[in-house]
Amino acid sequence: MQADYLANLDALIEECGSLHGHVCPGQVLGVRMAVLGCRLTGIEDPRGVDRKRLLVWVEIDRCVTDAVSAVTSVRLGKRSLKFLNYGKVAATFLNLSEGLAFRIAAKEESRELADALYPAGVGKKERQMLTYRDLDASALFKIESVRLELDEFEMPGRPRGRISCAECGEGVNDGRDVVDALNRRVCRPCAFGLYYQRTPKAD
Ligand SMILES: [Zn+2]
Ligand SMILES: [Zn+2]
Repeated sequence: MQADYLANLDALIEECGSLHGHVCPGQVLGVRMAVLGCRLTGIEDPRGVDRKRLLVWVEIDRCVTDAVSAVTSVRLGKRSLKFLNYGKVAATFLNLSEGLAFRIAAKEESRELADALYPAGVGKKERQMLTYRDLDASALFKIESVRLELDEFEMPGRPRGRISCAECGEGVNDGRDVVDALNRRVCRPCAFGLYYQRTPKAD
């Protein structure tokens, strides 16, 4: 029988801290989010038997994201972790086989709660970590039952389709190409602009 590692918050926090580089309020919050997300969606062993059943959308690229990934083993490179650049401390957990999904967002009040619950003398970071570890999930998080419509291009597993961009010639996987004004299949940078500037050629 597998150990219920999701039940041991302190061990998870320590583990996340060593992977992330430091234990911080974000690790504690991320552990709580991940454990709650798994519980709500009926995922008992995200690192083992349930590893192909869980998809997670994170809405920020900060400390919490590392903890969510470490606890659940979802990874960008496995397409089980999806990144939305919204700058919000929130994540959505989907149990693929049940079609069951919950979005969990940190409440703004949780920061002030940390100040109210613990007296002066305890450092700010400490207060936040204690609060995030001990507070009821309902006080810490806004929790919503949600539905996600996934097309096959979002799914883990081998790439679905690959074309060569008609403009730059680079390969584009998983239907991420678009049709341009000339009715050619091109990559998004060629259609919408690059995120970098080319430097002048040396030769
Ligand atoms: Zn951190
Ligand atoms: Zn291109």
